[in-house]
Amino acid sequence: MRVALISDIHGNLHALQAVLEVIDGEDMDGIWCLGDTVGYGAFPNECVEIVRERADICLAGNHDLVAVGDLGISEFSELAASAARWTRGVLSEDSRAFLADLSPYRIGRRYALYHASPRDSVWEYVLSAGVASACFEAMPTPVAFVGHSHAPLHFTDRNGEIAGQVARDGQRIRLDQGRAIVNPGSVGQPRDGDVRASWCVLDTEAQEVVHRRIEYPVADASLAILEAGLPPELGERLYVGR
Ligand code: ZN
Repeated sequence: MRVALISDIHGNLHALQAVLEVIDGEDMDGIWCLGDTVGYGAFPNECVEIVRERADICLAGNHDLVAVGDLGISEFSELAASAARWTRGVLSEDSRAFLADLSPYRIGRRYALYHASPRDSVWEYVLSAGVASACFEAMPTPVAFVGHSHAPLHFTDRNGEIAGQVARDGQRIRLDQGRAIVNPGSVGQPRDGDVRASWCVLDTEAQEVVHRRIEYPVADASLAILEAGLPPELGERLYVGR
């Protein structure tokens, strides 16, 4: 089975469409979404509608939880908070109902999915070997997929030896050589200096993950943010991938 893993779409319809075009052109058996479908971008309802239709699994991210009122806006930095207020104002009843039903994690037999981390499925960033090590202790499965940090990363645990690195476009990660925590990066707001939408493909038979990037019309997504009256910084950062 080949599964596309997408995360942190953040209302960026242009980026989501570009990724889906690639997915539809390949032989994919499923789509798993790790959350933060809304927040920051100009098209929260459109992105929710697509994810609801297309994703076999969808988690709730911290931005989704704030958008539906399950978390308070005061938890956010100023920029995220003003985007959250905007998103709350435009979210349709259907979108709200869909997002309100989601959980921030899903545990399977071999794969566990968390929006943020195995220790804290909503808030913790898995960006260092130290945090990854604690997460390996907390996770019940050999493999976990996490989003939240907007950086494509993978960590491995080979008999207690923790290694981690940023994943590049086309990089293959073996899943049968120790345990692994994999982050597909962010579809709609990458923060690793690469402006392209980030995602990955899990091949359950080959037991490997391939990290992928795809260009999308950044200028259109950025302009839409400006025109929607969202903070201009949210459009500008798409040009630098930070
Ligand atoms: Zn996010």
